Amino acid sequence: MLAAILSSPGNIELREIGNPRPSEGDLLIKIKTSLTCGTDLKAFLRGHSLIPMPGPFGHEFSGIVIDKGKGVRKFRIGDPVMAVHSAPCLDCDYCRKGLFNLCCNIMSTKVLGAFAQYILLPRHIVSQNAFIKPGWVSFSEAAFLEPLACVVHGMEPLSIGKDDTVFIIGAGPIGLLHLLLAKSRGARVLITGLEEERLKTARSMGADLAFEPSRAVGYVRDFTGGMGADFVFECTGQPAIWESSVGYVRKGGTVVLFGGCKPGSKVKFNAARLHYDEITVKGTFHFTPGDVKKAMLLLKGGKIRVKKLISGTYALKDIGVAFQKLMKGEGIKYVIVP
Ligand SMILES: [Zn+2]
Ligand SMILES: [Zn+2]
Repeated sequence: MLAAILSSPGNIELREIGNPRPSEGDLLIKIKTSLTCGTDLKAFLRGHSLIPMPGPFGHEFSGIVIDKGKGVRKFRIGDPVMAVHSAPCLDCDYCRKGLFNLCCNIMSTKVLGAFAQYILLPRHIVSQNAFIKPGWVSFSEAAFLEPLACVVHGMEPLSIGKDDTVFIIGAGPIGLLHLLLAKSRGARVLITGLEEERLKTARSMGADLAFEPSRAVGYVRDFTGGMGADFVFECTGQPAIWESSVGYVRKGGTVVLFGGCKPGSKVKFNAARLHYDEITVKGTFHFTPGDVKKAMLLLKGGKIRVKKLISGTYALKDIGVAFQKLMKGEGIKYVIVP
């Protein structure tokens, strides 16, 4: 089969590699669509600790079952599938505590290689995080299951409602998914980003205000009557922005740090904000099978309209063009079709 291999930062090679074969419990999926993601872009630009190089590339996908290992009952050959690329081991100390996203093995047993003709889903993913895709969800929409599950993980426990103001820092694909989810809860949403094109998209998705970063302090203050936002979501992964994000939240509010900073990064926060203002600052990483189910139901129920995040479609052989565009800040997510 044809597969995109990220050989070094900036270099994607298309290679003919052997077709994977399903063992007991596995599913072999013929990819219908895969999606580019911010993590892929990071890896393409500067390498990524969780994406070995040279190696298979891409982790957001949907497709059709074309072969299965012994013992798979949930799926038949020909079934359309929506799935994610990881699942917890259910056996480590963290899994026993129910902290499935922090499973000791979840990263080492994940599958990469969605930018290819086929992907092999191992048994632990098939049994926990793979579902039959209904006909009314397109393959492109279904491929949003993974990024949406990440966003659900950070946002779902926060009981955001219609009386809340949410401020999202970063209008990339993840920031925009936060926007969609917060709007689906009825919140007022402010969002900031660098590219006018993305701010336009944010407005068309229901953002109450979308503006460039230099206006953030004034706009958040005025919009909230000087109080500050109830919730702030940091979706850029830059230490300086992590630090400034605590300045936008009201007393007792919550800042969620979604964007991962480079390894070794350090940040400082004003202690008075954490102590006297009782703000909560929390990280969020990956997702649990519960989050994946919630994301699946949101996509199935049409509650989250992800289509506007798709900026174009490229054949697998032209995947390099999609990444060149993303590098220049053009577009949000691209569909890659093998
Ligand atoms: Zn992703
Ligand atoms: Zn585990």
